[in-house]
Amino acid sequence: MDLAFDRRHIWHPYTSTLTPLTCYPVRSAKGVYLELESGEQLVDGMSSWWAAIHGYNHPVLNRAAHEQIDTLSHVMFGGITHQPAITLCQALLELAPDNLEQVFLADSGSVAVEVSLKMALQYWHAKGEPRSKFLTLRDGYHGDTFAAMSVTDPDNSMHSLYKGFLPEHIFARSPQTGFWQTWQPSDLDDFRHQLANHHQEIAAVILEPIVQGAGGMRIYHPEFLKGVRQLCDDYGVLLILDEIATGFGRTGTLFACEHAEVQPDILCVGKALTGGYMTLSATLTTRHVADTVCSGEAGCFMHGPTFMGNPLACAVASASMTLLKSGEWQTQVAGIERQFSSLLPRLKKHKKVKDVRWLGAIGVVETTTAVDMENIQAHFVEQGVWIRPFGRLIYMMPPFISEPEHIERLVMAVESALNEESCFLTQTES
Ligand code: PMP
Repeated sequence: MDLAFDRRHIWHPYTSTLTPLTCYPVRSAKGVYLELESGEQLVDGMSSWWAAIHGYNHPVLNRAAHEQIDTLSHVMFGGITHQPAITLCQALLELAPDNLEQVFLADSGSVAVEVSLKMALQYWHAKGEPRSKFLTLRDGYHGDTFAAMSVTDPDNSMHSLYKGFLPEHIFARSPQTGFWQTWQPSDLDDFRHQLANHHQEIAAVILEPIVQGAGGMRIYHPEFLKGVRQLCDDYGVLLILDEIATGFGRTGTLFACEHAEVQPDILCVGKALTGGYMTLSATLTTRHVADTVCSGEAGCFMHGPTFMGNPLACAVASASMTLLKSGEWQTQVAGIERQFSSLLPRLKKHKKVKDVRWLGAIGVVETTTAVDMENIQAHFVEQGVWIRPFGRLIYMMPPFISEPEHIERLVMAVESALNEESCFLTQTES
């Protein structure tokens, strides 16, 4: 592999061209293992950013892709439909909260979020009451495109870089009560206050249910979400739930909103939708929102990407939905959660550790100083695992098929990194 070319010419996520970090060449992947060009096998702790829930190179997903590619890889969705899209949307509606009836397929998580925001804006426009603000939470993350970024934490996504261009929305304090802690009703005060003050200009509330992912791996109390749903109902504001990271079993329920027994008006899914095979997302909504949107001036929903409903992606996603419908994920995720709950508390005593937390197949170790990316990544590879931390967060979200020995390998590797001074920046550097 021409790694010098890669280093010189190819941008990787959030990396500098001046000081690019090492990239590890992967040759293949199977089950929970990533195989490096050198032949080393790494136990995957990331599911390729929440996506590869069934593991890599899965025979059922492979078969779906092969069969589809020999029939129809892609065709435009305007004026045309096909079985892979119909089968997938049927499966999605069967699995998703039962108030949702209409599916919009798009390319990526960020685009699903853009679509959800546009739906909310068109909804109010059609009602003859145009609104232009969104209420969201601090420490949230919704994607890297502009509208998605505008509702992402302003400090984490550096809104200051885009001042004057990026729309400005309303941010409420993020939930402070952890999932396993005793609920503190005052947690909702700021959110309630913001909604009370601004509800007439707010088209929708958008947030990540239960787990705030890339904005800090914060796992919060279901009562917060319940309160949000109630307040949205009280003020007649739409609720968009971004389940792009949490959807399809990751938190122990099929959708994280089930922990709070609430249903959104608009739901965004992506990532694990195709079992991590290719990019595809969906935005689901109610009959009422969909029909209101289309009753407005435009007469339709104003969006239609080139690769909308890509048959290849839909076929693989349908196969992934079939795997989920077997229900095995429930035992697998519950087993991973049990293991995190028995292994992680021990790490909390470590001087480098500020907090540990877990839910479903998510395990998080928050450290007191930021990691040294280059060194900690090399250390993990030496330990035979693939974990990619950021800042003060070392987190694991392994494929659901991980066996107890794999989870143990991951947690042991984290523990060994905690004991390596070179894996962390000094207090002043971080
Ligand atoms: N929303 C959430 C909650 C996410 O975690 C992500 C991806 N990290 C996105 C949106 C954006 O998805 P994508 O990277 O596919 O555009």
